[in-house]
Amino acid sequence: MNQEQDWNKLATETKVVAAGRPEKKPDGALNPPIALNSTFHEGGPIGYARYGNETWSALEDAISILEGGKSLIFSSGMGAISCVISLLPEASVIVAAHNGYQGTTTMLKKMHEDKRLEVRFVDLANTEAVLAAIPGAKMLYLESPTNPGIEVVDLPTVIAAGKVAHCVVVVDNTLATPMIQNPLALGADITLHSVTKYLSGHSDLLLGSISTKENALYGRLEQARRYSGSIAGPFEAWLALRGLRTFALRMQRSQENALELANRLVKDPRVLKVRYPGLVTDPYHERAKSFMKGFGAMISFEVNATTAQIDQMCDFSKLITNATSLGGVESIWERRRRWATESHTIPENLIRFSVGIESVDDLWSDIQFAFTAAKIL
Ligand SMILES: *Cc1c(COP(=O)(O)O)cnc(C)c1O
Repeated sequence: MNQEQDWNKLATETKVVAAGRPEKKPDGALNPPIALNSTFHEGGPIGYARYGNETWSALEDAISILEGGKSLIFSSGMGAISCVISLLPEASVIVAAHNGYQGTTTMLKKMHEDKRLEVRFVDLANTEAVLAAIPGAKMLYLESPTNPGIEVVDLPTVIAAGKVAHCVVVVDNTLATPMIQNPLALGADITLHSVTKYLSGHSDLLLGSISTKENALYGRLEQARRYSGSIAGPFEAWLALRGLRTFALRMQRSQENALELANRLVKDPRVLKVRYPGLVTDPYHERAKSFMKGFGAMISFEVNATTAQIDQMCDFSKLITNATSLGGVESIWERRRRWATESHTIPENLIRFSVGIESVDDLWSDIQFAFTAAKIL
């Protein structure tokens, strides 16, 4: 779709604006259409709208340029993850997080119970534990930073070990984003996103993506999408591409806000522990600095109060929304253990905080207000 362009030379800030545009021609549009068709005249490479769509292709081109691999979009992040997992033959061994994103962990637990797969659940941040679990595994399924623990996995080391052992190495890059790390450049076979989060960035749609440099894998995943039918709506694809245009700006601002708020929360006597790799005191700070280009905009922190008070705190804030999900322009927080499916390794008093692009001082005032309103002293 795009004119000849040496994308490798360009910065992320430029790629998000320039990628995924229709071909240049007189009176040609700058933006792709919302292509609403279920079928096409015969003779072309697509044939039917479950197999391809012009608006998907524009978003896929943009994600491909950001991640450095060929991409496919899906109806949701879980749609993408399910297709990746569906590549594994019955009873295969997979290594995955014991406390990663709850949707993935819950799905894998169920598949393990049903004997569809043999899942070795490990603490991904513990490199020794990951290395010990790899022998005999067909897939190494990684996520870093983890959601909601905000623990950083030593991706260069574990990806390399997974490749030596002939595993298909998958990295969920939703929290870090291609602004901060490129798993394919670190040697992973597949990187995937909940496009619902930072890439689209406005909490108004659900989409997922996968990217890979390997043509055979791409072909198998494209087929899995065709026949699972977990395809994106053209409107959602168009909206996500529109959101992606400001992704670099949003991420920069959210990240600055997150670092400032993490530094203020650390000093607050009502806060027991702050998890943010950008803090020099964070146990993962040095590891994060060694291969990441930033620290992201997700903070988790533990509050010295009862769970009832913490629920009230999340609810009483006026700017920060008490809701699940993350990665939007608006700040959102929640007590993660309010969900029965959240891993029990996540403390009851932990708040996951997706820091938005508002004024940092307004956010800080809102946090102070919420503490006081919930009588957390
Ligand atoms: C939200 C999320 C998903 C699932 O994506 P959906 O778009 O909600 O299906 C997967 N991984 C991570 C890390 C997430 O935060």
